[in-house]
Amino acid sequence: MIVIVKDNASQDQLGHFVKWIENRGFKTNVSKGEHETIVGIIGDTTQIDPFLLESVDIVDEVRRVSEPFKKANRKFHPQDTVVDCGHGVSIGGGNFQVIAGPCSIEGPGFMDIARTVKKAGATMLRGGAFKPRTSPYSFQGMGAKGLDILMEASAELNMPAVTEVMDPRDVQLFLDKGVNVMQIGARNAQNFSLLKEVGKTKVPVLLKRGLSGTVDELLMAAEYIMSEGNPNVILCERGIRTFETRTRNTFDVNAIPVVHHLSHLPIIGDPSHATGYTRYVRPAAYAATAAGADGLEIEVHDCPSKALSDGAQALTPAQFTDAMKRIRLIREAVTADLDGQEA
Ligand code: PEP
Ligand code: MN
Repeated sequence: MIVIVKDNASQDQLGHFVKWIENRGFKTNVSKGEHETIVGIIGDTTQIDPFLLESVDIVDEVRRVSEPFKKANRKFHPQDTVVDCGHGVSIGGGNFQVIAGPCSIEGPGFMDIARTVKKAGATMLRGGAFKPRTSPYSFQGMGAKGLDILMEASAELNMPAVTEVMDPRDVQLFLDKGVNVMQIGARNAQNFSLLKEVGKTKVPVLLKRGLSGTVDELLMAAEYIMSEGNPNVILCERGIRTFETRTRNTFDVNAIPVVHHLSHLPIIGDPSHATGYTRYVRPAAYAATAAGADGLEIEVHDCPSKALSDGAQALTPAQFTDAMKRIRLIREAVTADLDGQEA
């Protein structure tokens, strides 16, 4: 349920109103926009009589919110959320960022790839240290040593570091190392213990859509993180499983405008895992940018044929440099001000 508060309500009146609701056992979410203040009420609101609320003098309007996700819902928070990822880099609300780097951190050579992606225009660094591999016999990542390599590059290049956390017991290690953005991978999109654990921190979370997850399930996963107190969630469309076998996954580009409609959270596209093949990564990256994504996550390797994971979908530095130029042009087209002629 949301309550739209009258423009002329004082801070004091608003404070009393919120307390009054919370004393009845509900949680609240206050969103102050430029033109209106909205109080979201979370809990079993079937017990609340909307007419009673409407009789309160600072209340303009009361509306029921049918979706099960509340904190992630745009109705609760009409303006776009902007997530501060550190190093002066924010994502969402018109801030577009490109996260790039190899699938896995494989050793000190990571630094060279990091320098190259920065030169090409990437604004955030990625690299997996704990890898969710389908086979237990495949490379599992460098673990804590990998995090050290990532954080060294992040400090030297002044770029936020993005890396996947797979186990709730590792969250403290990620905090101690100073990881800027904790990624929750597709395979853990409904690992509720992990979602709750990262929700207890204030570190930004890059939440990927599950392999067979619906948009609503993605938003409910975000709700798990937010309900624990962490509002800094960035969503990621990374392709879903369909009957198609020509690509690793099927890129659901629709999810980008759908999420923007339903939620205030930023959403980025991952064309690498979405397609699984280098030759398809750039077209999918352009499509996500054109669809209004708040950013991209792209795998880049200096020698894809020797990569320890996901080499088949990695862009070479030259391909990434070319892609960045075109992404910039597409972004310009999408955000161009057409002198108020937009429909
Ligand atoms: C990754 O980013 O390397 C990764 C494993 O992604 P996903 O969870 O989307 O498969
Ligand atoms: Mn990968």
